Amino acid sequence: MLVKLLQEEEGEGKRGMATGEPVGLSEAKLLRETEGGLRKLGLQQAAEVVADHAGEAARRKASHPAFLHGLLAAELEQRERGFFQRHLRLARFPAPKTLADFDFGYQPSIDEGQIRELAGLSFLDRKENVVFIGPPGVGKTHLAVAIGMESLSRGRTVLFVTAQELVASLRLAHRTNLLAGKLRSYTRPDLLIVDELGFLPMDDVDVANLFRLVSERYERGVMIVTSNVGYSQWGQLFGDQILASALLDRLLHHSITVNINGFSYRLKDRLADLTEG
Ligand code: ADP
Ligand code: MG
Repeated sequence: MLVKLLQEEEGEGKRGMATGEPVGLSEAKLLRETEGGLRKLGLQQAAEVVADHAGEAARRKASHPAFLHGLLAAELEQRERGFFQRHLRLARFPAPKTLADFDFGYQPSIDEGQIRELAGLSFLDRKENVVFIGPPGVGKTHLAVAIGMESLSRGRTVLFVTAQELVASLRLAHRTNLLAGKLRSYTRPDLLIVDELGFLPMDDVDVANLFRLVSERYERGVMIVTSNVGYSQWGQLFGDQILASALLDRLLHHSITVNINGFSYRLKDRLADLTEG
């Protein structure tokens, strides 16, 4: 295989790209070889644009580092776009939401700076969980999804699941002896969004399953949790089960809480009608 590759290289020009100075090659041929080499290295987008970039660089008398930088940026951008498109469906967001379509003016209890900081994703590197707490309709799911989309666009894998689905699927997996595999599917993504942790009926087994999930992600992968109920009521979520406090301990040890107190955005137009009328 190696011999064949070298022969191919040989056929293209007297001296292969790797063998030294490409003396005597015309610019067009140099570009063709460079393009071929980039393709062999799997840098498809760079191969696609290298000729244009080279022409543009010559016209603008750009420096060599500037040319290389531009070429790499084109490749990286295309890869991030490709990653986003391939992983968007896998993330299972209920509907695409972005920070750009979030109206901060409507929700003054939200610290916009804090949300923009979260969208910068340093919490992912610090392995901090994020908990959005607030009444229905204030934008908890919207913000969680927007941060999830931002994570995807920067090459992080994301999975969105409602707390209800999560508990039900772990329960089923446990019953059918498939728990380990199911847990892996929830621990693998860089970011797991658990939406609407509320008053679900949970028995000992459910709490034990959740505990395993949270433990396996602890200090390794990040979770965003949204909830309609404040921490003071979280004890009730899990009943008086012994594992509950250990679970909360791990979930909240490194975590950021975003409390939202405000009117439901779903009532926005109706509230406006009422105040106008
Ligand atoms: P929650 O999860 O807190 O119950 P959602 O995030 O589901 O609320 O918000 C309900 C609906 O209102 C969604 O369609 C969401 O996109 C929209 N929404 C909520 N808050 C805002 C906001 N401040 N700006 C724009 N849209 C919002
Ligand atoms: Mg919601």
